[in-house]
Amino acid sequence: MIEAGQPTELFIGGDWLPTERTFPVADPANGRQLCAVADAGPEHALAALDAACAAAADWAATPAARRADILRTAYEALLGRREEIARLITLEMGKPIAEARGEVDYGAGFFRWFADGAGRLHLDGGYGHEPGGQYRILTAHRPVGPSLLITPWNFPLAMGTRKIGAALAAGCTAILKPAEQTPLTALLLADVLREAGVPGGVVNVLSTTDAAGVTEPLLADPRLRKLSFTGSTRVGKLLLEKAARGVLRTSMELGGNAALLVFDDADLDTAVEGAMVAKLRNGGESCVAANRIYVQSGIRAAFTERFTERMTASVCGHGLEPGTTLGPMIDERQRTKVADLVADAVRGGARVLGEGTVPQDSEGFFYPATVLTDIPQDAALRTEEIFGPVAAIYSFDEETEALAYANDTPFGLASYVFTGDVSRAMRVAEALDTGMTGINRGVVSNPAAPFGGVKESGLGREGGGQGIEEYLETKYIGL
Ligand code: ADP
Repeated sequence: MIEAGQPTELFIGGDWLPTERTFPVADPANGRQLCAVADAGPEHALAALDAACAAAADWAATPAARRADILRTAYEALLGRREEIARLITLEMGKPIAEARGEVDYGAGFFRWFADGAGRLHLDGGYGHEPGGQYRILTAHRPVGPSLLITPWNFPLAMGTRKIGAALAAGCTAILKPAEQTPLTALLLADVLREAGVPGGVVNVLSTTDAAGVTEPLLADPRLRKLSFTGSTRVGKLLLEKAARGVLRTSMELGGNAALLVFDDADLDTAVEGAMVAKLRNGGESCVAANRIYVQSGIRAAFTERFTERMTASVCGHGLEPGTTLGPMIDERQRTKVADLVADAVRGGARVLGEGTVPQDSEGFFYPATVLTDIPQDAALRTEEIFGPVAAIYSFDEETEALAYANDTPFGLASYVFTGDVSRAMRVAEALDTGMTGINRGVVSNPAAPFGGVKESGLGREGGGQGIEEYLETKYIGL
């Protein structure tokens, strides 16, 4: 099932390191074990930090053009191995192969984007005189230092490249701790980077079942200077507290509760297509997935009918099977969570407008594409991230009402607006309290765009012009 040569050991200081303990990685579409990987403990974490620190000065002093060349080589290598990597993503994470191919392109794109960014770093310095004319003010950037990068399982490649690309371009060394469910893609990525010429110690990868035990000694060590985390708001808050002890620079991409607004004047095809992508991309297991779909009364019946037809026509199955459009949930815990949210809403009076099918007699963690409406006020589904293929449809009459609903959440990651009126589109987008808004489109992720949220959805931005700044300090020299 897994290609010969798939790395399964820890990657520390440029070497592969076996561990006494290992843990199984399973295919969520059938529960079968794919292989076993090394299970890092706190001692490996400290070895990785030693390696990252030992490599830090040389990497920071490596000419930016050389760092850019290496990232560019890694970009091309990822694309060259697109099919192999896409297959691996599907096997360990479950998404349909077409989406996994898309993730390889998207994930590789961060290396190209940050290679360009590294080449332009020198432009960001400043030279001037203080207003009184007494002396000069010179500013320059320098890397923040060894960085801990913690990634989730939903985009096993892209969440890694988004952080590693920025860190390496800025001149930082890194320790990547991938999610326990999807370590294989991260280990393969380490191999790609090694082959592309990344020196030993610049990137280290720790697969582990003990996320807290491995990260604790790193966060407590004054040599670590930066934490970049993508995951749940609950864990993000915990880690922020720990990061406060060492006053670490932090970038946090946390949970979302995205609202998708469909106005009466929207083009129906565009709105249905956009809502499908915003809901079902990655099986709904995405922090920017449309969690709440608000539809204006005039278009409600038409939208709901078409959208429900499309949702229930999803082909659920193993991601490697041709024709599959909806893979399994990542694990039993996630499937149960989604099922509980639906059961709770239905108990309170929600109506199921449609439900797709799932493979029968399968050990996979499948959950059918489901459309709900008449969601009761106290349903957990209104406030919690669903992270699954369940669409909740609400209605509204006035624009102000829609905005009030959409913003009534402690989260503020993504939002979507569908309307044919450009003035309304801009007015609503500006009033939505989220870091990102898609207008007449259900996907906003792009290496060239700043990804991130406001309120409890996080701190900082990844990608775009800002992505690299998260790994840079400003140095000022008065002369
Ligand atoms: P999810 O619930 O979607 O799995 P998490 O926030 O739990 O999201 O996981 C995101 C990442 O954070 C994963 O790499 C996971 O291993 C890691 N993680 C989870 N708990 C902790 C913790 N206490 N300390 C450090 N990392 C953690």
